[in-house]
Amino acid sequence: HQDEDKLQEYMDELEFLAYTAGATVDKRFTQKLTQPDSKTFIGSGKAQEIKEYVKENEIGTVIFDDELSPSQLKNLEREMEVKILDRTNLILDIFAQRATTSYARTQVELAQYQYLLPRLTRMWTHLERQKGGIGMRGPGETEIETDRRIIRDRISLLKDKLKTIDKQMATQRNNRGKVVRAALVGYTNVGKSTLMNALSKSEVFAENKLFATLDTTVRKVVIGNLPFLLTDTVGFIRKLPTQLVESFKSTLDEVREADLLIHVVDISHESFEDHIDSVNQILMEINAHQKPMIMVFNKIDDFSYEKKDEDDLTPSTKKNISLEEWKNTWMAKSKYPTVFISALTKENFPEMKKMIYDEVMKIHISRFPYND
Ligand code: GDP
Repeated sequence: HQDEDKLQEYMDELEFLAYTAGATVDKRFTQKLTQPDSKTFIGSGKAQEIKEYVKENEIGTVIFDDELSPSQLKNLEREMEVKILDRTNLILDIFAQRATTSYARTQVELAQYQYLLPRLTRMWTHLERQKGGIGMRGPGETEIETDRRIIRDRISLLKDKLKTIDKQMATQRNNRGKVVRAALVGYTNVGKSTLMNALSKSEVFAENKLFATLDTTVRKVVIGNLPFLLTDTVGFIRKLPTQLVESFKSTLDEVREADLLIHVVDISHESFEDHIDSVNQILMEINAHQKPMIMVFNKIDDFSYEKKDEDDLTPSTKKNISLEEWKNTWMAKSKYPTVFISALTKENFPEMKKMIYDEVMKIHISRFPYND
């Protein structure tokens, strides 16, 4: 990572992910390398430093902010003699903890097996160590092959199962008829569930952790006599594991098949512009980037900025930009209808509702041009 502020933000996010998974972070390590070491990701000096720290302080797990290759994972575990988690594994773990429906559990299980398959050997290195590494190679390899076969079978079984559910869900979506469908999209923890609750008066689980929403929730919403369906989807995140994008395809189908996207942004977050980029990136990947969209900048109640000292000549930082300045920039920059709200205090709700009403009405009219 080039830039120091970015680096800290990424580490903050990783710490938040770890916290969501149930871990407490003891210490952060960073390293500047022009490119990751192909064998151990970090340099050997840094690995040694971490190893010593881990030993001294009885640390249970070391977490990396990137996806490690199977051999990097294996080498690091051997070298540092501690459990290693990479970003992908951590995110999969959180999804696994939070999957409540059988559909979500199937999706996560599939993603976990896909992650595990190329990394199977590493379980055997543990065994090798325990048993002194004597004579383990032959039978070990055979067992790995057997395990691989079992996992491959399991993967195709899970894929079949998902296909069946996908069909059911597609039918359900068709049965919803011609009612306009809007989907809330946005980075994780920006306030989608809170907004959903506020708009539909239902109770959707909202908490200050990453990925509180795993399954899609669909609610009927009525604004000014105009009914439409509103879907709350899984929160997007930077470097969403590809295994998850693949197996959460049908969750994302809700987004792909929506008529209108409501893109929620947490303007109180320092990296909200990066978040917008990540979300747009995923929308592009699932080919949903050309849909009508409304930009909703949320949490304006929590927006803070430090006014720059008059004599201070350092270039202005994000912190020195007031909400009014942000509003002007974004209103001018965005090609979509844009509104600034607080889902918590409901500030500017009438304005947002009017905007949603107008967009839904446009779609409604294009569908039923002859009705009144
Ligand atoms: P989601 O992951 O996008 O569905 O986000 P949630 O709706 O679960 O909200 C994440 C956290 O942000 C929760 O702690 C909410 O209470 C909080 N939150 C949501 N909207 C607002 C807002 O307008 N202002 C403030 N200050 N906090 C909010």
